[in-house]
Amino acid sequence: MSRILLKCLTITIISVTGSLLITGLIMHANDMHNKMGYVIAIVCPVLISPLISFIVIRQSEQLRRALEALSRVRDELEASNARLFEKSTRDSMTGLLNREAFFDHLDRVRAFQPCSLLIIDVDHFKKINDVHGHFVGDGALMAIARCITECVGSDDSIGRIGGEEFGVYLATKEDNRVDAIAELIRAAVNRIEYRTPDSMRVKLSVSIGGIVDISTGAVVDHFQTADRKLYEAKRKGRNCVFIQPAIREAA
Ligand code: GH3
Ligand code: MG
Ligand code: MG
Repeated sequence: MSRILLKCLTITIISVTGSLLITGLIMHANDMHNKMGYVIAIVCPVLISPLISFIVIRQSEQLRRALEALSRVRDELEASNARLFEKSTRDSMTGLLNREAFFDHLDRVRAFQPCSLLIIDVDHFKKINDVHGHFVGDGALMAIARCITECVGSDDSIGRIGGEEFGVYLATKEDNRVDAIAELIRAAVNRIEYRTPDSMRVKLSVSIGGIVDISTGAVVDHFQTADRKLYEAKRKGRNCVFIQPAIREAA
């Protein structure tokens, strides 16, 4: 309020000064010498200016405050939208990308960087649930998700693409590197010291199918190839890795 009053006072002083100047100029030009003219030149702006400027300034202050509040609400909305978007792309249990977000990401990044795909399926997971219960099963999935995360680099990404299935996007198209990372994941999962609440060790293993270099062609075709490799791994006894090498075009 004191800010508004200060502004009103300033405007009144400016109005009175302006009014006196104009009156003085007019009087001087017309060779008039009437003190009453100067009194009127002071009284009129003193009566009009404070009231009008108070109304206008108060309205503009209210508008400014409303705009500030609006801008705060917009910032909060943007932040909560970003949080919601982030949440909608994540699997709530493991924190990994969900299936849709994983394949969207894969499709986007493969256009400008080397890209290979792994599909990882937990072996005999139904049995873990059946023997130890779903709570232990959920814990095993979280432990496996953490383990895979530790095995890949910062340019790679992981998604939970099914109940006990994970997809890994690797930012490389080198056969040796894809084989090595897949084998690293397989061995690391197999070494997890996962225990039930009553300390019973639950042996975990995964089978991995993959395909090297999926930068061109349809993602769905590459996914099917990796899936076929995964089932080869299942057929060969599980806890193993089968990767389709890159198809190198003849020079
Ligand atoms: P395989 O080695 O052939 O893959 O055998 P599997 O038992 O892992 O495969 P199957 O498809 O027969 O069973 C998968 C099980 O995963 C069945 C389902 O109840 C369980 N599952 C899927 N999602 C979840 C989950 O979020 N939590 C838990 N605890 N279990 C899940
Ligand atoms: Mg499965
Ligand atoms: Mg399975």
